[in-house]
Amino acid sequence: MKIVSNILNKPKAECPRCLGKGNVDWNDIKRLKKELSWLPGKCAYCDGQGKVKSNQINKVAVDTSYLTMDLSLKERELIIDNNFEATEKGKMREREREVFIEEVKYLNSIGKLNPEQIFDFYLIKYEGFDISEEWKIDFLNYIKKIITHNKV
Ligand SMILES: [Zn+2]
Repeated sequence: MKIVSNILNKPKAECPRCLGKGNVDWNDIKRLKKELSWLPGKCAYCDGQGKVKSNQINKVAVDTSYLTMDLSLKERELIIDNNFEATEKGKMREREREVFIEEVKYLNSIGKLNPEQIFDFYLIKYEGFDISEEWKIDFLNYIKKIITHNKV
């Protein structure tokens, strides 16, 4: 019986997110239209294996935005298993990102603020926090990316 279950659990299908490479690159990100959600890196859909169990593709969509490597392995497994709580938490996280993107677009197009002004606006929230320069650069670049992406 052990052998049988091993065969059944063996990953078979090529990972549709990274196309079997084990890592997601900009081509994959563009193909799945996740330019504002993902960065290149180890593939969270197959945990860098390049292959997935064939039933996973029917269980969880390949472009599920919130299935990313910044989650723990356990949390990713729960999402892949369609666990209600983990899925809801993920959807909420994604919703927060969507709202942020909409806010940045609004501040830029209606509010006529440039990326630096939008950056300053959000930084008010973090006053008193110890924020690294690296984080600030990444954050400003992300705002710029949202605005540029919007105009394409
Ligand atoms: Zn993959």
